[in-house]
Amino acid sequence: MKIRFLGAHNCETKDSRLVSLLVDDVLAIDVGGLTSGLSWEAQHRIKAVLLTHQHYDHVRDIPTLAMNLFLGGSQTTIYSIPKVFEVLEKHLLNDVIYPDFRYKSPDKPTIKFSVVEPNKPQKILDYDVLAVPVKHGVPTVGYQLGAGGKTFFYTSDTGQGLAESWQYVSPQLLITEVTASNKYTEWAVDGGHLTPSLLQRELEEFRKLKGYLPPVLIVHMSPHLEKDIAAEVAAMSKDLGASVTLAHEGMEISL
Ligand SMILES: [Zn+2]
Ligand SMILES: [Zn+2]
Repeated sequence: MKIRFLGAHNCETKDSRLVSLLVDDVLAIDVGGLTSGLSWEAQHRIKAVLLTHQHYDHVRDIPTLAMNLFLGGSQTTIYSIPKVFEVLEKHLLNDVIYPDFRYKSPDKPTIKFSVVEPNKPQKILDYDVLAVPVKHGVPTVGYQLGAGGKTFFYTSDTGQGLAESWQYVSPQLLITEVTASNKYTEWAVDGGHLTPSLLQRELEEFRKLKGYLPPVLIVHMSPHLEKDIAAEVAAMSKDLGASVTLAHEGMEISL
């Protein structure tokens, strides 16, 4: 599997895009920064989009992707939990702010919604997919993706208390979040997010439960806190004796 980080942050600036992952050019996970980072042709290769939760920084490019696919005559399926579809239908694809592309081209709908059931393995394209609930302020699932004997787990936005989620996954790579530096722990906890210290506890729990700790890549950093986050993550990585590093826009890794 080839994973491209189109966006690795929680805020958009000239230098940072909202979290979006692209797997093997055909499957996207979260789409806060998808369409501005991909050519027209590349967007038409996307056959599945997995959404983790309803927050704007994760769903923003659904309307723009759908418009491009509609004009180019392509189709894609969006996978998520019911709450996310409810929010998309009410707020983004409501025929007020933008069309409901499920009903554009009635014989060949531009997009389709497909509900995922938490903790139940399913096949999406050629991938073994598992949606696993995590701890955030709104209903949120992370996704474990497997193909060719390789597996990664992306938690999406999450706060503390991942022990239960860890039980369902066995990834060779963990992609998770750190939104704030340790100084802003209270703010992070209020928002259902992690700091380096809070993440360290979750990773220690992972190691205790699973007997190993895979390499960890971090996304969703607040750009203005990134310098402090990077220093704290480096210290944590040393302390854990494990590879924990920050992802960045344009990063590409093969599993
Ligand atoms: Zn969120
Ligand atoms: Zn977010």
